[in-house]
Amino acid sequence: MTRVIGLLGGTFDPIHNGHLRLALECASTAGFTQTHLIPAHLPPLRPPPIASAAQRLRMVELATAGDDNLCADPIDIVRAGPSYTVDTLTALRREAAAESLCLILGRDAFLKLRAWRHWDQILDLAHLVIAARPGQGDAGTDPVLQQLQERHGVTDPAALRRHAAGCILPITIPALDISATCIRQSIAAGRSVHFLLPEPVIQFIQQEALYRNPT
Ligand code: ATP
Repeated sequence: MTRVIGLLGGTFDPIHNGHLRLALECASTAGFTQTHLIPAHLPPLRPPPIASAAQRLRMVELATAGDDNLCADPIDIVRAGPSYTVDTLTALRREAAAESLCLILGRDAFLKLRAWRHWDQILDLAHLVIAARPGQGDAGTDPVLQQLQERHGVTDPAALRRHAAGCILPITIPALDISATCIRQSIAAGRSVHFLLPEPVIQFIQQEALYRNPT
């Protein structure tokens, strides 16, 4: 049987319940066999993270330890340098020639797809599962992305199993208004972050004295 692998890249500075729910919602709707959470070594399109790559990987490991269907994938951190998704997918595709690879993207991230390096190769390497929150709508404002969605869009998740790459599946997920930025700001201000991220991750942040300074 073809394995259907979900891939969620992020800065994860720190990982939080919004990321974990996003991964789980996509896995259950799209039928992923396993979902890899992939911390970027150096995200190309945003300021450098506060926590080190090793610390962010450790937080993803702690957050996913209790769930057999989620795993921390160090591929970008091992490769080092700027973490371009096209490089990650090319490497994963080499290891898993026939498997279905499904890149999870928030709708906000999808709308910035054309800023990515070799963005037009992404659908040759993987499917896209685009998670919108209710009310965000489906149509893009960028005509090129809208055309891409019309050409590659599918509504039946079974299409992700039939092909190894090349489909776009839009799904709607419940909104969880949590961001790593808010968590870092709360920690710097001495406010509680309980129930926003897994408890073992909170303990790690405390042990490592992370995010104590306002940024
Ligand atoms: P920051 O606040 O530092 O920008 P972030 O919380 O958005 O970080 P990232 O690591 O940049 O986290 O996000 C990785 C992916 O997770 C992105 O595709 C982003 O859209 C998605 N994401 C982040 N927070 C949520 C959330 N609360 N619900 C759904 N998706 C989310």
